[in-house]
Amino acid sequence: MDINEHVTGDDVKAAMISAEITEVTHHGCAICGAFTRYLRHDEQLFYDSSCDCRSSDPQPRDWGNAARWIALQTDPEVKLRILKAFGFEVEQPVAARSKVALDRSVSGEASSQSRRE
Ligand SMILES: [Zn+2]
Repeated sequence: MDINEHVTGDDVKAAMISAEITEVTHHGCAICGAFTRYLRHDEQLFYDSSCDCRSSDPQPRDWGNAARWIALQTDPEVKLRILKAFGFEVEQPVAARSKVALDRSVSGEASSQSRRE
């Protein structure tokens, strides 16, 4: 899939099940640093907001909740990391970009061949 592809709740569910993922970290608590997380139990999604300074039981969430969280991401690198955490197989525009940077640094030094073309 492409990183900009729209992801539905059913997509998230299917990706997690097929990749056998049962846990996706959400964000770190600003105070204690422990991570809240999404949990999958069979075909149900839960959100565990407890951390080291605040405890609560995991709450059920519909799959669209996770899909909306993915859709909210504006940083492509963060979005890519989240998609992969849910088990999506994503082509990596980020890796492609760093390859270009690498090529450029090489051509700056030794590759006079490419300049002659
Ligand atoms: Zn905390």
